[in-house]
Amino acid sequence: MENKFQSFMDTVRMKNPGEDEFLQAVQEVVETVWDFYLENPRYQKAKILERMTEPERVVMFRVPWVDDKGEVQVNRGYRVEFNSAIGPYKGGLRFHPSVTLSGLKFLGFEQTFKNSLTSLPMGGGKGGSDFSPKGKSDNEIMRFCQAFMSELFRHIGPNTDVPAGDIGVGGREIGYLFGMYKKLRNEFTGVLTGKGREYGGSLIRPEATGFGAVYFVREMLKEKSDTLKGKTIALSGFGNVAWGAALKATELGGKVVTISGPDGYIYDPNGISGSKIDYLLQLRASNQDIVEPYAEKYGVEFFRGKRPWEQKADIAIPCAIQNELNLEDAKILVSNGCQLIAEASNMGCTADAAAYAAEEIMFAPGKAVNAGGVAVSGLEMSQNSMRIEWKKEEVDEKLNHIMDNIHANCVRYGKGLDGKINYVKGANIGGFVKVAEAMLAQGV
Ligand code: GLU
Repeated sequence: MENKFQSFMDTVRMKNPGEDEFLQAVQEVVETVWDFYLENPRYQKAKILERMTEPERVVMFRVPWVDDKGEVQVNRGYRVEFNSAIGPYKGGLRFHPSVTLSGLKFLGFEQTFKNSLTSLPMGGGKGGSDFSPKGKSDNEIMRFCQAFMSELFRHIGPNTDVPAGDIGVGGREIGYLFGMYKKLRNEFTGVLTGKGREYGGSLIRPEATGFGAVYFVREMLKEKSDTLKGKTIALSGFGNVAWGAALKATELGGKVVTISGPDGYIYDPNGISGSKIDYLLQLRASNQDIVEPYAEKYGVEFFRGKRPWEQKADIAIPCAIQNELNLEDAKILVSNGCQLIAEASNMGCTADAAAYAAEEIMFAPGKAVNAGGVAVSGLEMSQNSMRIEWKKEEVDEKLNHIMDNIHANCVRYGKGLDGKINYVKGANIGGFVKVAEAMLAQGV
């Protein structure tokens, strides 16, 4: 059995040389679904895992655009259409200088399982560019988005592939991308999610990933008859995810003590909540650095070049980028009394950090914890198709229900005989089953 697994992984490695992040994600999934896979000869006969680890299609394209100085810039754009067994490809666009094909393949692969967990009919995809939005003017962002869409529009559509935001892509970028798509196709459809409310966006979508993550943590704590009340929480980042998490965690009685930016983090012992969050959002909206001005305004310490995991906190929720919390960080957190690590960023922990945290305390993976974002994207697609708008309460209730359901799925497939829940295994098998069955039903 062990040999079969090793030879499977050797083949994946051979086919995807040097793609470390993709291989890390595949290894984690295959390792945890392997026994389940072997118990189901139907899956093996149809080579389901071999097929699931190969994207259905990858599009890579040139994105030329003109900056404010009149100089031509050339970036690279991608869309990885990973798996459409259960619905149109669905997943975000990431604009960040670190974007590579390997990174997007890992994200598209993860997205397939995440989207399946939401129970909504969405396949997995991811895209983006190595374009860095940092320091760019609003006009440059618009021109870049238009140039990016002038190729991407050929490959997407409301029933084919529905992109959304991710790192570096928020409401503003989605607006520019949508405007260009509409011009090129002369069609007003729900081809993108995360749109502004005025033109088909869903209520709660901007907060959804953070809200969902906190709902998931609430369910994890329930397993040990605990709640968020009085818990200190360390968050990283302050992009599309962390602010919603800060709002919801505070609402449920927790105290958020850290957030971070590319240059360091702040620790606020009084909690980052209320008008302080409004202030951060204002800074973010005007494209400014957020962490240092916060430290200055509220007289708290800024830790340059450091990450928040050195602080004492009951709960840690990485919300920034993959592999942002390593084994050493996990050990420090645990030795400082941390009881739970929940990834709100995709693959936020290195493999050894995740394994250590799962062993010592409670740990849950990104594809379960952060699924609330894409779940509300799915709800946005439904509203667009029906040409209606649900109330805030309605969307929030559906999101709550979806997160509870994902947690229940993790328990169903991840609870061991000793009663301990392996959330990584639970999420991977839970996500795998629906996709595998759909692939089987649709033939080779
Ligand atoms: N980028 C988000 C994710 O990683 C959201 C994707 C979407 O809404 O399609 O799940």
